[in-house]
Amino acid sequence: MNDLRFRTLGRWLEDHFGTPTYRVALDAGSTCPNRDGEKGFGGCVYCDVEGSGTGALRTGSDLAEQLELGLNRVSRRQQHAGGDHGVIAYFQSYSNTYVEAARLREVLEVVKPHLGAPVVAVSVATRPDTLPDECLDVLEALTEHVEVWLELGLEAACDDVLTKIGRLHTVDEFREAASRAALRGIGVVGHAILGLPGDGREGARRTAEVLAECGVWGVKVHHLMVLRRTILEGWWRQGDVELLEPERYVDWLTDFVERLHPEQVLHRVTGESPPEKLLAPQWEVSKNAVRSMLTRELEARGSRQGSLCEGAPAPFFTESAKA
Ligand code: SF4
Repeated sequence: MNDLRFRTLGRWLEDHFGTPTYRVALDAGSTCPNRDGEKGFGGCVYCDVEGSGTGALRTGSDLAEQLELGLNRVSRRQQHAGGDHGVIAYFQSYSNTYVEAARLREVLEVVKPHLGAPVVAVSVATRPDTLPDECLDVLEALTEHVEVWLELGLEAACDDVLTKIGRLHTVDEFREAASRAALRGIGVVGHAILGLPGDGREGARRTAEVLAECGVWGVKVHHLMVLRRTILEGWWRQGDVELLEPERYVDWLTDFVERLHPEQVLHRVTGESPPEKLLAPQWEVSKNAVRSMLTRELEARGSRQGSLCEGAPAPFFTESAKA
């Protein structure tokens, strides 16, 4: 834990890899069962047509090209700062294990020439209900060469809320998927959104408790945002969506962080979206300001990450999960 009173990814990366480490987001052209009709057509209510990702493939940039561009961008940036650097290859868009194992293997081949230097971790986003054993086999095989993380959406720990927002999976499916991945030596990063319709402050607390119980290694949390061309946009225009202001969000976020396990790593404590996509809320505060507000609120409460975590197991760390 650091002087921020919560465990940040930045500090963890520094300790773990010993070099500045940057994320390169990739779009492998996957889809998701909430969009192709397997489960639904419209997607989760807050998700835009680019599947909560970069949309790079739609611009005609194939995967190898995306990676090359990203690696060059990071390298140029790091040349100014001097010294070595690492890269996390992040397959962000859609559900990347909602494919045949052979396709996932083919996608991951793209990073192979760069493993070790500069790619020090491969991070794959997916849904809890699209994680066949065959895909886990592929990811587990990759852990022999590089650290592998699985970004898994929980969003809210309440089946009614998950139904309302069109996630179309259950909390138990999240628990099961997180456990199956962690037992393969894969670092699971659970995602949460605070302020979802019908969830409230109690929901924020419950979601943190479930993420702690599941022993996920990392946590990403942000406030609900209304993006253009989403189902949520329609609800918001009708006045049916209440959004969080920064002060209220930080209050709820503090409740959330207090209920996580002290050893879980917070990959993100607030959200951001390109200005051309974001409709609301339009906050005037930066990501760093939210982190400072969270630190101040924890100080004011005399608490820190994990202060209200009761009996949750230590998270499965990738280094120890296979031991
Ligand atoms: S599961 Fe992910 S990609 Fe699919 S609709 Fe929901 S947020 Fe978008």
